Amino acid sequence: MFQAQNPDCLFCKIVKGEIPAKIIYKDEKCVAFHDIDPQAPTHFLVIPKVHIGSCGEINGTNSQVVCRCFEVISKVTKELGITDFRVVSNCGAQAGQSVPHLHFHVLAGRDMTWPPG
Ligand code: AMP
Ligand code: ZN
Repeated sequence: MFQAQNPDCLFCKIVKGEIPAKIIYKDEKCVAFHDIDPQAPTHFLVIPKVHIGSCGEINGTNSQVVCRCFEVISKVTKELGITDFRVVSNCGAQAGQSVPHLHFHVLAGRDMTWPPG
C-alpha cells in the first residue's frame, strides 16, 4: 500500500515536526533544512514530503516532487546568494546513503574535488 510517510523514517519525522530541524524552506511538496553535520560552510538538504526511499524509487508517478526539489534548490541557493554549489544524492549503502528517504545534499562555500570519494 502507498504510504505518504513512513512512521519509522527520520526524515518523515522531520516533515511531521516530530524531530526538530533548522528549516530553511517548505511548501506543500518539499522541505529544505540544514544538515546536522555540515560537510561545507553551506550544507542543506532538500527532501520531498512524501516518503521515497532513494533515487532508485523515482518513477512516473512520483517524479513531480523531484522536479519541485530542484526548483527549491534553485530558489534557495539564489536567496542565500550562492552561485556555485554541488548537488549530491547518495543511493544505497555503498554510495554512502545513511537515511533511506530521498534527499538532495546542497553543498557550497568551499572548493570541491572531483571525483568524489
Ligand atoms: P546520506 O548519508 O547521504 O543518506 O545523508 C543523510 C544526511 O542526513 C547526513 O548528511 C546527515 O548528517 C543528515 N542528518 C541526519 N540526521 C539529521 C537531522 N536530524 N537533521 C538534519 N540532518 C540530519
Ligand atoms: Zn521518509
